[in-house]
Amino acid sequence: MSGRFCDKVAAVTGGSRGIGRAVCLRLASEGAAVAVIYSSSPESAEAVVAEITSAGGKAKAYKCNVADSAEVESTVAAVHADFGRIDILVNNAGITRDKLLVMMKEADFDDVISVNLKGAYNMLRRVSPIMVKQRAGKIINISSIAGINGNAGQVNYSASKAGLIGMTKSLARELAGRGICVNAIAPGFVETDMTERFAADEAVKAKIPLGRMARPDEVAALVAFLASGESDYITGEVIRIDGGLAI
Ligand code: NAP
Repeated sequence: MSGRFCDKVAAVTGGSRGIGRAVCLRLASEGAAVAVIYSSSPESAEAVVAEITSAGGKAKAYKCNVADSAEVESTVAAVHADFGRIDILVNNAGITRDKLLVMMKEADFDDVISVNLKGAYNMLRRVSPIMVKQRAGKIINISSIAGINGNAGQVNYSASKAGLIGMTKSLARELAGRGICVNAIAPGFVETDMTERFAADEAVKAKIPLGRMARPDEVAALVAFLASGESDYITGEVIRIDGGLAI
């Protein structure tokens, strides 16, 4: 396959559904071989792989709970063994357990931090050494507007997403000398399972200057830009893609 990512290998967590699925399809459409990492939806992950391979691309699904450091270690080793390198890492896996703080149980807090923040750390810990050896790499962390502005009912989620922004900036400084760029994307509302309950909510749309939610492929296009050579001078940045929600 030809394209901007010909001969590149991408690992995408949460690649089975929503934004991650769109990212897998977009990177593969431009030639990347894609590791589709999922935790509990094998049918959805295999459907992404089938869509890529039937279009002539390369992809493989890997079951891995990103919150589990041992699973991440073996999964990253398997991806590396299968594809020979890892050029692009997209830390996209994420969950919500939305509640006002007074109702939020310790497990609601811990689960969200474990997947959204520790999960990204686990992946970075194992993938960074591979990229350092290659002296090249692109890391894209999917944060959220909630990590910049905060959001009532999302103390756990916005803490995890703000944490990802700090992690992005620190790691960008650590890895810049090795030719590795680390950036974050902060989406507003994107049409996925995660936001299904807001899909018909006119009050939500009214808050967005562009008047609609984003499509997952619009976020994927931004990921592709940050994964490409066209963004080689951008690192430690947080790019909002929110239709103007946070202006
Ligand atoms: P989604 O449709 O709910 O999909 C979540 C994905 O994450 C699924 O592929 C799921 O895999 C995977 N996942 C969940 N827990 C995991 C775990 N422990 N280990 C590995 N994979 C796991 O979500 P989305 O809306 O596409 O969101 C993707 C990312 O964008 C998240 O980080 C989210 O916080 C962020 N974001 C979303 C929005 C939005 O409006 N949708 C806005 C801002 C930021 P399985 O199905 O296999 O469990």
